[in-house]
Amino acid sequence: MDKKILLHICCAVCAVSAIEQLKNEGWQVTGFFYNPNIHPEEEYIKRLNDTKLLLSKLEIPLIEGKYDKDKWFNKIKDFEEEKEGGKRCEICFRMRLEETLKEAKQHNIRHFTTTLTISPHKDSKIVNTIGQSINGDFFVVKDFKKKDGFKRAVRLSKEYNLYHQHYCGCIYSLPR
Ligand code: SF4
Repeated sequence: MDKKILLHICCAVCAVSAIEQLKNEGWQVTGFFYNPNIHPEEEYIKRLNDTKLLLSKLEIPLIEGKYDKDKWFNKIKDFEEEKEGGKRCEICFRMRLEETLKEAKQHNIRHFTTTLTISPHKDSKIVNTIGQSINGDFFVVKDFKKKDGFKRAVRLSKEYNLYHQHYCGCIYSLPR
């Protein structure tokens, strides 16, 4: 089986343990940073730079997606007031995963998945259902938080001195 996989990365902390798991399973990982949901832009740059640094240390190639901020705001229009984990997040997951598939195809990478399932705040079933609905043949179902995946992420992120953000990403998830 072709073991190339494009991993959508939301941030370095979530990537570090997901990459470890995928590599242990024999996957040849390429990272894809596509997160137009992160605001303000300074925060986006912080998370992007941290991811760049980590992937260069791990010797994993990284593709940088566009910062499609306006497109993101258009997509989630009318769902601004949804609580975290609701409809707005489903739209946000779908947008990022659709772009990941597009990118994977452009690079002849047969599989794709995402670091999003590592967060204890995200429902892995919803993320995986969306991934499968986008392309059930290409999407690799994962639940990175299983087997203490998140604890491992926290431990590794301390080792690598990674930046820990305090909110999911969009302005609506900022602590009020
Ligand atoms: S809370 Fe997080 S997942 Fe939900 S819409 Fe905002 S950035 Fe996206």
